[in-house]
Amino acid sequence: MTRKPLMAGNWKMNLTHVEATGLVQKLAWTLSDKKWDPERSEVVVLPPFTDLRTVQTLVEGDRLKIGYGAQDLSAHVKGAYTGEVSVEMLAKLNCAYVTVGHSERREYHREDDALVNAKTLRALSGGVTPIVCVGEGLDVRQEGEQVPHCLAQVRAALTDVPAEQVAGLVIAYEPVWAIGTGEVATPEDAQEVCGAIRTLVGELYTAEVADAVRVLYGGSVKSGSVAAIMAQPDVDGCLVGGASLLVDEFAAIARFY
Ligand code: PEP
Repeated sequence: MTRKPLMAGNWKMNLTHVEATGLVQKLAWTLSDKKWDPERSEVVVLPPFTDLRTVQTLVEGDRLKIGYGAQDLSAHVKGAYTGEVSVEMLAKLNCAYVTVGHSERREYHREDDALVNAKTLRALSGGVTPIVCVGEGLDVRQEGEQVPHCLAQVRAALTDVPAEQVAGLVIAYEPVWAIGTGEVATPEDAQEVCGAIRTLVGELYTAEVADAVRVLYGGSVKSGSVAAIMAQPDVDGCLVGGASLLVDEFAAIARFY
C-alpha cells in the first residue's frame, strides 16, 4: 500500500480571518509556482476556529486542492459547554481533519489520555479524521523511555476505535522538546518512534491496518530538514507549526519530493 504523504500546517493561535485569506491565496499561488503535484502530497491547513468559514469559502470557491481542518473539538455532542465546538459544527464546514491531543492542549488545558480518546472517538463519529498527537517530554527522552511513553499514549487514544476506522486516521509523533524550539529530531529519532507506532497498530489490529495508517512527524520541521525525515520508511508526512505560517517554507515542505 502506498500512503500519500500528508503535510499539515498547524497555525495555532495565529492569523485573523482577514490574514488567513492572504495566506491561503499566497499558498495556492506558491504551490502552483513550485509545480506541486497534489497526487504526490496532500496539503492541509489547520486554522483557528474563527478562520474556518473563510478558508472553506476560499478553498471551495477557487477549487483549491488544499485541505483544511481544525485544531481541537469538544468531546461532547452538543449543549451547555460554553466555548466548545462540536464535531457536527466542524463537519458542516467540511473540515476533513482535526488535531486531538496536541501537546499544547495536554499541557495548558490538562487534557489527559482519556479525554484524547473521547475526542478521537467523537471526531470519528462525526466523519472528521483525527490527527492524534503523541510525544514525549525532554525528561522522558533523557531517560530513553520515548518509545514506551508514546506507545502508551497511542494505545490509550485508540481505545474502542474499530479497525476499519484506524486505517483511515492519522497519528502524529511530536516530541515535545522539538515543538517550537527549533530543535528538530534526527530522522533516526523520528523513524524509531514512528516505526514503533506502526508496529503497535499492527499488534492491536492487523498488518493491513498498520500498513494503511499514516504516521506523521512534527517538531520544528523546516524546508531544509523535511527531505531526510520523509526518507524514513515509517514517516508519512509532517505536522508543521511555525513554518506553516511562512508561505515559501510551507510550500517547500509540501514540495519535499
Ligand atoms: C506543532 O505545533 O505541532 C509543531 C510541530 O510546531 P513547530 O513546527 O513550530 O515545532
